[in-house]
Amino acid sequence: MEEILYKSTRSNSEPIKASEAILKGLADDGGLFVPEKLPKLEVSIEELAKMTYQEVAYEVMKLFFTDFTEEELKNCINNAYDSKFDTEEIAPLVEVEGKYFLELFHGKTIAFKDMALSILPHLMTTSAKKNNIKNEIVILTATSGDTGKAALAGFADVPGTKIIVFYPDGGVSQIQERQMVTQKGDNTFVVAIKGNFDQAQSGVKAIFSNKELAKLMDENGYQFSSANSINIGRLVPQVAYYVFAYSRLVKEGKIASGDLINVDVPTGNFGNILAAFFAKNMGVPIAKLICASNENKVLYDFFRTGTYDKNREFILTTSPSMDILISSNLERLIFKIAGSDAIKNKSMMDSLISTGAYKIDDKMKEQLDDFYGNYATQDESADVIKRTYEETGYVMDTHTAVAAVVYEKYVKDTGDNTPTVIASTASPFKFTRSVMNSIDPKYGKVDDDFELVDELAKIGNLEIPSAITEIRDAEILHNNKCEVAGMEDIVKKFLNI
Ligand SMILES: *Cc1c(COP(=O)(O)O)cnc(C)c1O
Repeated sequence: MEEILYKSTRSNSEPIKASEAILKGLADDGGLFVPEKLPKLEVSIEELAKMTYQEVAYEVMKLFFTDFTEEELKNCINNAYDSKFDTEEIAPLVEVEGKYFLELFHGKTIAFKDMALSILPHLMTTSAKKNNIKNEIVILTATSGDTGKAALAGFADVPGTKIIVFYPDGGVSQIQERQMVTQKGDNTFVVAIKGNFDQAQSGVKAIFSNKELAKLMDENGYQFSSANSINIGRLVPQVAYYVFAYSRLVKEGKIASGDLINVDVPTGNFGNILAAFFAKNMGVPIAKLICASNENKVLYDFFRTGTYDKNREFILTTSPSMDILISSNLERLIFKIAGSDAIKNKSMMDSLISTGAYKIDDKMKEQLDDFYGNYATQDESADVIKRTYEETGYVMDTHTAVAAVVYEKYVKDTGDNTPTVIASTASPFKFTRSVMNSIDPKYGKVDDDFELVDELAKIGNLEIPSAITEIRDAEILHNNKCEVAGMEDIVKKFLNI
């Protein structure tokens, strides 16, 4: 097997090993780590079709994390994709009206971030061991809701780690807040800050770049790391489920091995769809990558015009995990279509920082033919939830709905009827209020989200996921609040330094 090293998207510094890239998260020059080349799958689709999720995941990840031993990687995989998931298949494919919903929400926090965040802690502690790091890893995360809980659940009680999560007080849903403040685990810390998400994010960045604090941490046997979506240790595990989905379609006789499929992804930070692009480059027969945005449609405009421009109003939508104006992972695609030219990529990223925009040239734009971008309004998303429920009984969440709307637009635009996998990124129980309001506005009168949960279970004939039943009566274990200016102090307090 060929060794894969990782280099930064922003400079020509020495490439590093996978375990080092996982520990660092972000390159020192501010760039993202990318594999020097994309490996090809070494097993046939027929063989993959006979494998379990864990086995497929191993076949994919071993090609990227080449400095992990077989035993190390299999341990990480088996610790991550186990009975924490409420289905043995881990990522089931559900056929609804000829489309295939790839349900990525069967993990602990019922959103797709579990697919990566249940394995990242194991990849990180294994990487620390491999690199002789004795310090305890302290994960710092700012969250607008989903990432925080998925990271807490992933790192809770993982030896050699601590995790501190900041969320904006009053800026997350009732269920999201409840999920976080009831988090168990002696190594978990949750803080509501008196500010918005951007302030939480900037506060975390400031703590990360504080050299004096880093020194104090090191003296006390700690070092920071990040669990955010640009870590290569989050991206690679996501490639696995696209390979898995294709192999299931073959296994179930829905397609023949070699037939093309399309993949449609509700997109925010561009991590999930980039993983599908990686899968395509590894040899999975994927034709179009359909990039679905909500009303924050920076990506739709980018694919249409070749200009990425974040200078626009930020819209709070019913798909909050996609309310993003800077899609960080897009940088990895830009780097690739710039011919892996770090200097060219950096000039565009500099322009994004200084002016909020950049433009790609025609030669780069030509390489985006695999992608189709479009967007869905909140009304269109609500409508597709209602229609699909009434016609089929299937209830989808508000993020998945964005992808479902864009899929309809794609078929209308192109007439292309290639079998399509839609990434289903959250359980409807995670966004119960918006889902129920879409089905019938009368639910708007119900005050308590948990009452709506019961109603959803009834009308959808669904079992309430344990992620919800567990938090319902769970004890509140975290009640920390702080000012934005007090974030560093509270970190020190938690670590006793
Ligand atoms: C994070 C998230 C997304 C967006 O995924 P990206 O990888 O950031 O594009 C979509 N849906 C849900 C439910 C999410 O939590």
